[in-house]
Amino acid sequence: MQWILSHCGIDGNKSVDCLAKKGTKSFKPLTIQFFNSTKRIMKNYYREYFFSEFSQKNNQKVWFSKLLHILKWPRDRAVAYFRIATGHDCLSKHLNRIGILQSPLCKLCDSNEEMDTINLACCRALSSGSMWSRYWEARHKKCNL
Ligand SMILES: [Zn+2]
Repeated sequence: MQWILSHCGIDGNKSVDCLAKKGTKSFKPLTIQFFNSTKRIMKNYYREYFFSEFSQKNNQKVWFSKLLHILKWPRDRAVAYFRIATGHDCLSKHLNRIGILQSPLCKLCDSNEEMDTINLACCRALSSGSMWSRYWEARHKKCNL
């Protein structure tokens, strides 16, 4: 559930507002426990719905099997592995390919190699152990250059 500004021209907003007002009259008493359990049920429903849609659209892609359990991973790990697996990793090579950076080279070390997931695994400027933690270390260091 999310608060949305009313009367600002969003289609269906007025209808939702009316339904919400009706809902407050039919669910008494409204408690924190009720709110939390409703929120949990909606979150689980959308998680299952998202995974079903995600599976249907991407099950033929090469990275799909690597990310089957992504919804159960901690967010920082899931985001890193999703970006690494799909090649949309926001590392220098990717940013150069889409025209954001002029150079695809790793600026963190003196290897003169393109900064991609291969470089991420062996870049001497990074000290973290796992690929996902090396990914975030690289991203943070790149932002502070
Ligand atoms: Zn490097």
